[in-house]
Amino acid sequence: MSAWNLQAELTALKEAALYRQPRALDASGGPRVFCSNDYLGLAQHPRVREALALAAQVEGVGSSGAHLVTGHRVLHDRLAVALARWTGRERALTFSTGYMANIGVLQALVGRGDAVFSDQFNHASLIDGARLSRATVVPYRHNDLEDLERHLKTVRARRRLIVTDAVFSMDGDLAPLRELAEVAARHDAWLMVDDAHGIGVLGKDGAGTLSSLALSAAQAPVLVGTLGKALGTFGAFVAGSAELIEYLVQRARSYMFTTAPPPALAAATLASLELVRNEPERRAHLQRLVARFRDGAQALGLPLMPSATPIQPLWVGEAETALVQSRALERAGFLVTAIRPPTVPKGGARLRITLSAAHSAQDVDDLLEALAKLDLP
Ligand SMILES: *Cc1c(COP(=O)(O)O)cnc(C)c1O
Repeated sequence: MSAWNLQAELTALKEAALYRQPRALDASGGPRVFCSNDYLGLAQHPRVREALALAAQVEGVGSSGAHLVTGHRVLHDRLAVALARWTGRERALTFSTGYMANIGVLQALVGRGDAVFSDQFNHASLIDGARLSRATVVPYRHNDLEDLERHLKTVRARRRLIVTDAVFSMDGDLAPLRELAEVAARHDAWLMVDDAHGIGVLGKDGAGTLSSLALSAAQAPVLVGTLGKALGTFGAFVAGSAELIEYLVQRARSYMFTTAPPPALAAATLASLELVRNEPERRAHLQRLVARFRDGAQALGLPLMPSATPIQPLWVGEAETALVQSRALERAGFLVTAIRPPTVPKGGARLRITLSAAHSAQDVDDLLEALAKLDLP
């Protein structure tokens, strides 16, 4: 058989219930969505939409160049300053996406002769970034400080970087960041934290998981946040010392060699950041929904996972089962994606339910009622 028989592989994926297809959703109707990352319900907010439209009238759509050539605008600077102030860091640098931020930062900070110590459940973009960096990649068991420290004691390297999600994207649990910072300090390593799911949701003013633990730039030098989740827009940023940011401007290839994001997008994010900071009731409502969901699910005996965040997966196991249940939920009017390998380990398929401040208590109760009718393990 030819090595180019792609159809055979596609068929095999279908047979293993691992085939994926993008699903076109209609913003104005359709099933109630319980799997988006729009945790605060800001993606549709009138003020954010208006900021985008108004800025586009003035700035146009495309930035027309890379940041270091012709693409950089005052709006980009204003956003970076606001993000740095919000997260309590000296400076911030925006990237087109979180994926590109992680790839760019890792490849800028480490290379041959260095080592990246990476939680086994880290996001794909961290895994890919570590690989691309050409540093030695040392995976450690999920949230296992002893395993991490064992590796730190044995692996010799010039620079050592510990990398972790703050809120694990498929499980919703938190990394032990305070302890990780202590381990890093003991071993002259740096800690890089990807707070894609904590930014906007956790901490004072929604400034993220690091802020909720009062971890400084000395303790956690590299903070990555994304703008396409709780902030409801698009893009990402890295926050840290002025020195770090200056270094990234010189070295992060995914910052240097790509078109700067549309300036109007920065205006939209500035508007959504205002809402995130000034409307703490969104976070309070979201936390109440999380508690309501967990109480209800517990009462029903559903396979909850240990998560206190808006990511509330139900453990299913087999990919095929997760798919069948996701389809049953959709027939009942709820969109909950089945998360299957390779996003999660083999045999670890789940229904990744996420809650949003856009949901009502009634929405959560209705979802629980639909879940009660499923045949979950
Ligand atoms: C979503 C996500 C990213 C990627 O961010 P994008 O802006 O969507 O590219 C990176 N890290 C984690 C943990 C994420 O969940």
